[in-house]
Amino acid sequence: HMPTSELQRLDAAHHLHPFTAHGPLSEKGVRVITGAEGTWLRDSEGRRILDGMAGLWCVNIGYGRAELAEAAYRQMKELPYYNTFFQTTHVPAIALATRIAELAPGDLNHVFFASSGSEANDTNLRLVRHYWARKGQPERQVIIARKNAYHGSSMGSASLGGMAAMHAQGGLPIPGIHHIDQPDWWGEGGEMTPEEFGRARARQLEEAIREIGPDKVGAFIAEPVQGAGGVIIPPESYWPEIMRIVQEYGILLIADEVICGFGRTGEWFGAQSYGITPDIMTIAKGLSSGYQPIGGSIVSDEIAATIAGDEFFHGYTYSGHPVACAVALENLRLLDEEGIVTRVRESTAPYLAEKWATLADHPLVGEAATRGLLGTMALTPDKARRAKFAADPGTVGLICREHCFAVDLVMRHVGDRMVISPPLVITEAEIDELVTRARRALDATLESVESQGLMRAA
Ligand code: PMP
Repeated sequence: HMPTSELQRLDAAHHLHPFTAHGPLSEKGVRVITGAEGTWLRDSEGRRILDGMAGLWCVNIGYGRAELAEAAYRQMKELPYYNTFFQTTHVPAIALATRIAELAPGDLNHVFFASSGSEANDTNLRLVRHYWARKGQPERQVIIARKNAYHGSSMGSASLGGMAAMHAQGGLPIPGIHHIDQPDWWGEGGEMTPEEFGRARARQLEEAIREIGPDKVGAFIAEPVQGAGGVIIPPESYWPEIMRIVQEYGILLIADEVICGFGRTGEWFGAQSYGITPDIMTIAKGLSSGYQPIGGSIVSDEIAATIAGDEFFHGYTYSGHPVACAVALENLRLLDEEGIVTRVRESTAPYLAEKWATLADHPLVGEAATRGLLGTMALTPDKARRAKFAADPGTVGLICREHCFAVDLVMRHVGDRMVISPPLVITEAEIDELVTRARRALDATLESVESQGLMRAA
């Protein structure tokens, strides 16, 4: 390929990036990723980078799986595209929907495909409203969601999300969406025990339903573990209380499994990990391990019945794209046959939990916790006061980058967290390496913020 400087010049001239101003720009310019294998990325300078984020919470199976390329090649030759509108279908969509229904808990037996998590969450908005209209309760329009959550970037899904900065820019949320707080015990729990706090935060749902009117609320949407909004691992009391409330008021529960789904928590779905029984689950990312853009909504028998045989004016050209479906199906086959999800549950997740927790002794680290292969670390200049970290998150991001360690810094959204979500195939030796690099990056961050006087400023 061209020299890095030339690639960077063309990128700056023509390529608009998502989430552009995420911290200061590196003096070395944008990073050009050229290849990857297993858990390791390669950049245009030939450096090897340990991928602590599985691309963007998606490459669950790891990089470089030829089986997935072959599945795409076979399907492209056989039938590269056909739609699934009206009374038409094709084999890859049938096979994938059937497999997903087998894996999904309870009576979640039906899949409406999309190309991304954002699209799937927009579908969910339509599904919920259609469902209540068909049930003779069209006034049940309000959907309750959580602050700092990320559910996508389209107008509908960004409205479900609760990121203030996104809302401010887009004139969002659209009407009919109400946000409650997330169960961030370390950041906001104060004097309460985690269990008291988990229940208190769940009860905000009940308070919101009563305030809005139980006959006006259609659904509650949340991730089992909030991901891009900071990897907020809920106290054990949170989900049982949420389940009680959604059942008592008869509102639909949407579990956004875009990050938690397909093995991340050590179960096929985060809902299973927390004993949640949703009516709808949003899926994307790990469904194809990111090898093809595909997402979808998995819905219960009861919800499916309200669109079967009915006019549901909604669908994407690429709903059930044959190549994406074939690749996703092969990905699910490999995750299952190679026992990758089981291995996360039985060995890799406990190993990561133990090693990640050792970082809690670092002067900058408040909480260091994991759930499955999701890790979260609260950064603080003062553990006792649980003070907010004042340095620009981009500075920490650049330091991690210098240490050839890809992490996500979600501090812009929720404040103060460094999170990881590595490929599920990560080995114990690679976990050791990841924790070593994280510690080095923390040391360098401490040095940098101390020299800038930021420890005191916070
Ligand atoms: N839901 C969640 C929980 C997500 O993390 C994301 C993406 N980070 C989305 C939805 C949106 O998915 P996509 O980027 O595929 O549109």
